[in-house]
Amino acid sequence: MLRQQQRLVEQLRTAGIQDQRVLAVMGQVPRHQFVDEALANRAYEASALPIGYGQTISHPYTVACMTAALLENQSHAPARLRVLEIGTGSGFQTAVLAALVARVYSIERLALLATRAAQRLQQLKLRNVRLQHGDGNHGWPDYAPFDGIVVTAAAKGIPRPLAQQLTIGGCMVTPLDTGQEQVLIRLTRTTAEEFCHELLGPATFVPLLSGVAFGVSP
Ligand code: SAH
Repeated sequence: MLRQQQRLVEQLRTAGIQDQRVLAVMGQVPRHQFVDEALANRAYEASALPIGYGQTISHPYTVACMTAALLENQSHAPARLRVLEIGTGSGFQTAVLAALVARVYSIERLALLATRAAQRLQQLKLRNVRLQHGDGNHGWPDYAPFDGIVVTAAAKGIPRPLAQQLTIGGCMVTPLDTGQEQVLIRLTRTTAEEFCHELLGPATFVPLLSGVAFGVSP
């Protein structure tokens, strides 16, 4: 493990990440390969970084925290889980999930980011990932239901199709924009019709937008 990466894992542990599986993967996935070369020397800093088109690679603590929250209440071992991610972005969160769970499905609305993430994930030979250029508000009905859903952009409300694509017992970790602030929540589907939610803490995400984009502007 790179010394800087090892230091980052220690920072995550100090900040409260306790899940050993998540810490191990944060020490393995090469974050420097998910940012532009000019920023590679800052890849193991505890910060979000720009990835172009007004978007960011999430803060490493955010990735670790969301991943741990997703795995925590599952009734199956991580290696048996199927997870949907909305907002592939750089592909880093996708790679972290792919190292832990059976299959990852990830949707990105910006074509250029989706293409770049696909190249990076291919280089890392992660074969349990399926990517789509599309609008994540609709989820991915072809592969539903999912044991876990991670949303990496903040919506004003939880898109109904996403909640409906959870397995019973499955959970979604998502930021929500209340108008005043953003909060991170975990929504668990307890029965076919019932959901419960827990507040995980404050959040800072780019907005969840609608539709897809092909050009350079979101
Ligand atoms: N997990 C990513 C986060 C990237 S930022 C990373 O760490 O790199 C959030 C991403 O969500 C952006 O790339 C943005 O384009 C994407 N996004 C926003 N709204 C979306 C939508 N409706 N469907 C799919 N992706 C969306």
